Amino acid sequence: AKDADYLISLMRAIPDFPKEGILFRDIMPVFADARGMAILMDALVSNLSIPNDDFDAIAGLEARGFLFGPILAERLGKGFIAVRKAGKLPPPTAKQSYALEYGEATIEIERNAIREGERILIVDDLIATGGSAGAARDLVISCGGVVTGFSFIVELAGLDGIQSLGGYPASSLLTMP
Ligand code: 5GP
Repeated sequence: AKDADYLISLMRAIPDFPKEGILFRDIMPVFADARGMAILMDALVSNLSIPNDDFDAIAGLEARGFLFGPILAERLGKGFIAVRKAGKLPPPTAKQSYALEYGEATIEIERNAIREGERILIVDDLIATGGSAGAARDLVISCGGVVTGFSFIVELAGLDGIQSLGGYPASSLLTMP
């Protein structure tokens, strides 16, 4: 409980960022703090939604999924696959578009980064509506991967983001309003 309290104490809430009416949850202070990062990584490892033997690689979403996805992958003896915003990766890539509150976003994976039938755990710092994680799921599947579960640091309450993903095993360390 002491560790959990310490981790929570490092999370910052910023009102009206990046837009009026949004309460932004900032996880960067956790990474700036050596003890905080160690607690975070231990908690992620011990709260996985599926056994370590049930997946082959971790796919992390740009940009904050890149902060801890590779550390987690290394700790678990897995590879790491980057899910990037469109236009950053060399061809051949697979693309997936999804709806935002206003407009649309596109994410990409390098086609050859995922083997047919490879079992993938998808990670991101935070799940709100689940739109980004759902698009990553569709992208992994379109590349021949098998989505085995999700892991998040923070889940925003009341948005049913995890429920929107379609019944996959999913874990989050902290639920916040
Ligand atoms: P969703 O697609 O689930 O609605 O939104 C989640 C995505 O937006 C994640 O990639 C996450 O990094 C980003 N995001 C949305 N709100 C926040 C927030 O309050 N804090 C942080 N750190 N990221 C957020």
